[in-house]
Amino acid sequence: MKIAFIGLGNMGLGMASNLARHHSVRALDISPDAIARAVEAGCEAATDSAHAVEGADVVVTMLPAGAHVRMVYADLFQHAAPGTLMIDCSTIDVASARDVISEATELGFAMIDAPVSGGVAGAAAGSLTFMCGGEADAFERAQPLLDIMGANVFHAGPAGNGQVAKICNNMLLGIHMIGTCEAFNLAAKLGLDAQTFFDISSTASGQNWSMTSYCPAPGPVPGAPSNRDYQPGFAAAMMLKDLRLAKEAATTARAATPLGAQAESLYALMEAAGEGGLDFSGVMKLINGSL
Ligand code: NAD
Repeated sequence: MKIAFIGLGNMGLGMASNLARHHSVRALDISPDAIARAVEAGCEAATDSAHAVEGADVVVTMLPAGAHVRMVYADLFQHAAPGTLMIDCSTIDVASARDVISEATELGFAMIDAPVSGGVAGAAAGSLTFMCGGEADAFERAQPLLDIMGANVFHAGPAGNGQVAKICNNMLLGIHMIGTCEAFNLAAKLGLDAQTFFDISSTASGQNWSMTSYCPAPGPVPGAPSNRDYQPGFAAAMMLKDLRLAKEAATTARAATPLGAQAESLYALMEAAGEGGLDFSGVMKLINGSL
């Protein structure tokens, strides 16, 4: 199968490399260095979008935000052959995802949104989770490729629902991470050490993923970023991006998300303090006053 892969940054490089082990991949990015790294990983360099999609059965994109996705697809629609399958794996606003997929469908392409979780390590290892939105036929065509890049692949419903699943999940993650930080900080201030509180709460009703897999207090979960001075992992700036997307979608849908909005404010403070590059569990430093 011939694949055009556009956007070879932190995530896209690993994903394109994994596809290139099974298929012919033509790689395009605005950064020549990014293309050079993809060529080293077994891809062929594309000179422009027309060259990237020439003879391609599938296009995969992994771009920063909705504006990039709109711009790149406006160009791709001029050059891709009718029936080409398009898979946008970027995390973007729901409205842009739905608009671009709707235009693709009108033009005779098949397209899904397929944002991911699992981070750079998951992209390199081929163990990402994909949350997909779009027509069942398009999803079924995409699944064998998503299986190469990921370990878990979900069809969440119509166009844009992959983005909905992603931002709702990450909004919940941001909220329970902050709640977990507050609980561990209060316990410490009241004289209860992190390990003892962890042993109790991880088997009681406060148990949650932020605590048991990613504990923001150093000690109880040895592999967690809290044990390496909050080096990411999943950066606070990326969490802030997802919380902003959730807020934007909540405004459009007229859904009340007061805790999501509060979480966004706290991660914005972290970024304003110059610490957006820390892991998102580093919000503990904001809570305990050590930032
Ligand atoms: P990145 O900035 O490292 O990569 C984006 C790439 O797109 C860059 O190489 C950039 O040069 C390229 N690009 C930008 N505009 C382009 C254009 N017009 N044409 C061609 N290439 C263009 O970002 P990333 O960390 O790889 O993230 C990509 C997406 O994945 C984002 O939407 C992000 O939210 C999402 N995501 C990232 C992570 C993570 O841990 N990094 C985790 C899950 C999801």
